[in-house]
Amino acid sequence: LANRLTSLKDLPAETTDGIQVQLLGNIEFPSEAQQCLDRGVNGIGLYRTEFLYLANKGEPTEEEHYQAYRDVAEAMAGFPVVMRTLDLGADKLPALPDPEDERNPFLGLRSIRLALKHVDMFRTQLRAILRASVTKNIRIMFPLISTLIELRRAKMVLADAMEDLEEEGVPFDRDIKVGMMVEVPSAVMMMDHFCDEVDFFSIGTNDLVQYTLAVDRSNKDVASLYTSADPAVIKLIKMSIDSADAHGKPISMCGQMSGNPLYTMLLLGLGLRSLSTTPAAAPELKRLCRSVSIPECEAVAQRVLEMESSRDVKALLREELLKRL
Ligand code: PEP
Ligand code: MG
Repeated sequence: LANRLTSLKDLPAETTDGIQVQLLGNIEFPSEAQQCLDRGVNGIGLYRTEFLYLANKGEPTEEEHYQAYRDVAEAMAGFPVVMRTLDLGADKLPALPDPEDERNPFLGLRSIRLALKHVDMFRTQLRAILRASVTKNIRIMFPLISTLIELRRAKMVLADAMEDLEEEGVPFDRDIKVGMMVEVPSAVMMMDHFCDEVDFFSIGTNDLVQYTLAVDRSNKDVASLYTSADPAVIKLIKMSIDSADAHGKPISMCGQMSGNPLYTMLLLGLGLRSLSTTPAAAPELKRLCRSVSIPECEAVAQRVLEMESSRDVKALLREELLKRL
């Protein structure tokens, strides 16, 4: 099987009826860019930039950010690199600038909220991303957006950083694409409005599941409730894809769900054409994409959308997957 998967490296992730699926990689460390290329992945769909904070003692300098981002952008020349801005707090606890005792860290000052509170820190990162963007393949993505105001504030900090660089005569990609993660149910409900404000979306199921079902993603005691196969989660995913499609905005998925072959047919059937996963998962996803047709996937999605429990959903998806192993 390993050999069969390796031989797929240079083949497209194309369904039997000729529909192209974009396979992207999720990475945390610049060194992982090479792993993506080795597995025939067409770009980075999620670069988790927190590692600089988690590895460093204290705050990284603009130069440290810049070096890391430039390394990835250059390694991936010709392929898109979606750089997600700081997603610190809750499950990604670094040396926070001012760690506060929070009773509900996942509902607290994390991710974009923390970045907007510490604007200097945020601006430093944005400057570094912009400076690295001269390679023209970088895209910026804001995490955990829950309201339009929040998105607009993030975009304003970005516009400020651009203006500063311009005044300083520092080059950057003026047409850089700006997107957001869809990982809070409120963002799904407001998709039509967000479509007017961003260039692309990526669904983050790890958080979307947690916020939809009110289940802490890191709490073992409630782990049985935590599943991407929940019908409510699947409905929210469908709504997100339908809205983005209606507005002609690209949408991808970068949570764990997108890398699990169990869900591939469902996601294609719901209309998703781009999946971002750990590089290791990509060859198997590609094999699967190449063994199914879109009408088959749509039929599966249709049946799933009528189901009432994650147990039924998983049973059906397992049965369909087994037929294609
Ligand atoms: C997600 O929430 O699905 C996601 C991809 O982001 P993270 O796992 O880094 O929170
Ligand atoms: Mg997330």
